[in-house]
Amino acid sequence: MRKVYQNIIKLILAVSIIASGFLLNLSVTLSAADTDKMEVHFIDVGQGDATLITNGGHSMLIDAGDDTKGTTIQNYLQKQNIKKLDYLILTHPDADHIGGAPVIITKFDIDKVFMSNYEKDNKTYQKLIQAMDNKRLKGKTPAVGSQYALGTAQITILAPNKTYNNPNDASIALIIQNGDNKFLFTGDAQEPAENDILENDLAVSADVYHAGHHGSRTSTSETFFAAVKPSYAVISCGVGNSYGHPHAQTLNTFRTNGVKVYRTDEQGSIIAVSDGKEITWNCTPSETWLAGEATVSSSTVGEVADSSVVTYVCNKNTKKFHKPACSSVNDMSEKNKLEVTLSREEVIAQGYVPCKRCKP
Ligand SMILES: [Zn+2]
Ligand SMILES: [Zn+2]
Repeated sequence: MRKVYQNIIKLILAVSIIASGFLLNLSVTLSAADTDKMEVHFIDVGQGDATLITNGGHSMLIDAGDDTKGTTIQNYLQKQNIKKLDYLILTHPDADHIGGAPVIITKFDIDKVFMSNYEKDNKTYQKLIQAMDNKRLKGKTPAVGSQYALGTAQITILAPNKTYNNPNDASIALIIQNGDNKFLFTGDAQEPAENDILENDLAVSADVYHAGHHGSRTSTSETFFAAVKPSYAVISCGVGNSYGHPHAQTLNTFRTNGVKVYRTDEQGSIIAVSDGKEITWNCTPSETWLAGEATVSSSTVGEVADSSVVTYVCNKNTKKFHKPACSSVNDMSEKNKLEVTLSREEVIAQGYVPCKRCKP
């Protein structure tokens, strides 16, 4: 009887050794040859973000432009034969990221909606929640470090790492890896949130960096850029946008580090294709290195589209700078008005002097 048991144990051992060898082989093959083609479409939505990623019949949309771009994105997705989204990721609740989402939610089947932990109390946000309710969808904030599959690609969540006072900083950030190719998305996360991402010890190095906050100088800090070390950067921004995106400082960082830059304001929708080894593009990189110029926007009246914090308003003619609430800002001609997000010292370094009335 004992002999029989021993033989059974030997048999089990032999089978498990063969099986584990087989599994080992299988996982090696999976990581090399079985990587499906991944397409990343940085859709031109003017000033705003909308990125479609597809892999082996699976698809995900990161952000959905402002409320004038819902149908543009719908048409773009339908042209790509998308019927269903595995994931809709709304990085943060600013209008240039969620405005078009109600159309997408209404027109497509969606498996999962990921949202920032920052909630807004305005019409744009309420419309989004209403559209989700109609489709019985519930948004959730994914945990940092959690991973999700998109075909053969793997998504790792990098942010938000806590709650913030500024919606930009509350952006969902993620890295998506297909074979050896990595793409990083940080929404409108600014320097404080970038620092928090670096602190959580998850790998952020990437081949392609979707420039944070439309290429604003408030994002892509030196430390963060050094950790990402991208070969390519894509800037989603609108022609002549009032924020002056992309800012010269960000372009300089890319230029001095030999990063190839693509921008939707100059090149329209940009498509990158990853085969797991190499990344190919539908156009050649931009070489204009042209920074935007900040102008005052009418957004002071209605909803602020994007949460850039305007610190001062400068008069290009008189060379004086004011608090945004100063009465002289109302009398200033549009041509001379320059809204900035700089510190007091930085504004003075630009040659501006403080207004005597509002004493900024
Ligand atoms: Zn924003
Ligand atoms: Zn934005």
